[in-house]
Amino acid sequence: MERFSSEDISKFKACLKKKRETIVLVPHINADGDATGSVFGLWKVLKNMGLDAKVISPNSYANYYNWMCGHSEAIVFTWKKDYATKLMGQAGILICMDFNQPSRAGEMESLIEGFQHTRILIDHHPYPADFADILISDTKRSSTAELVFALLCEAGLQEYIDKDAASCFFAGIMTDTGSFNYNVSDPETFQTISKLLKYGIDQDAIHSAIYDNFSEERMRLLGFCLNSRMKVFPQYHAAYLYLTKEDQKTFNFRKGDSEGFVNFPLSIKDIHFSAFFTENDDHVKVSFRSKGNFPVNRFSEENFNGGGHLNAAGGEIYVTLQQAIDTFENLLPSYEEQLKKSENK
Ligand code: 5GP
Ligand code: MN
Repeated sequence: MERFSSEDISKFKACLKKKRETIVLVPHINADGDATGSVFGLWKVLKNMGLDAKVISPNSYANYYNWMCGHSEAIVFTWKKDYATKLMGQAGILICMDFNQPSRAGEMESLIEGFQHTRILIDHHPYPADFADILISDTKRSSTAELVFALLCEAGLQEYIDKDAASCFFAGIMTDTGSFNYNVSDPETFQTISKLLKYGIDQDAIHSAIYDNFSEERMRLLGFCLNSRMKVFPQYHAAYLYLTKEDQKTFNFRKGDSEGFVNFPLSIKDIHFSAFFTENDDHVKVSFRSKGNFPVNRFSEENFNGGGHLNAAGGEIYVTLQQAIDTFENLLPSYEEQLKKSENK
């Protein structure tokens, strides 16, 4: 649903006119291609407008996003807490991108909640929390990157978009649609891509920088995970994968190495609900994906303290890996009818 009006666009534009203020851009924790693409693309546009913009990422992100403009100047909150906190205190505008509630910013949650000046939220997730002065929300958009591009065009700021920014926006759309595989039923997405290509971006190079940049160990980890860490439940049209801490150590696990693993079980015939559990020191991170109309955001919200989109969601649970997996397995029977129905959507 579209939740922004021409009034919001005017407010957004008017707010950027206060030239002396520092603008801080924040993506969600464990920023993905859409979160990084959106903040770095908008960062470049703001710089091109002559504004003072800074990206503060709640924690580090995968190194295959390091090519994005602005990466070398970005501040990672968990590495420079004092400096980042000081910057937030001095900033006049905060722009939160690709997340719908302050808790998605990890350790930056209280800084976002306590921010005293203008807060802007630009996001495509459903149910945005009520914490922003200016809410630019559109759940119909494939990605936040597509939404930001539309916002900039509607605000008449296209002239400040350049090849670097367009490359970031392209990366955001590409990653949030699984390389134009899902969430692409709206022709506007391809119209946006067409416009982005006109900035002279190299889409092959962007695709390669993100998808052909893995270590040998990551490929072997994927093989191991599919072979030894996957359980399939044909009767529930469901499957899950998991990785223990030990597995991560064995394969020299780096941030981003398991990106996309959760999608693999969906290519098994008749499987349309997939979960992926990653064991961490004090919690288990879970990712969910579905095909059809089984709402994994609801499933995650109800059972794993999470949320997200209809077909892609995530959550965290502060129990052991075995307990998290048992919880999932024990829940499947109660969702049997829903899972069966989602097959015939
Ligand atoms: P991923 O599985 O790639 O981490 O995340 C998939 C989707 O779920 C993304 O839209 C992401 O923003 C959302 N998501 C992931 N983890 C969480 C979480 O812990 N809480 C909430 N509310 N959303 C999450
Ligand atoms: Mn997104």
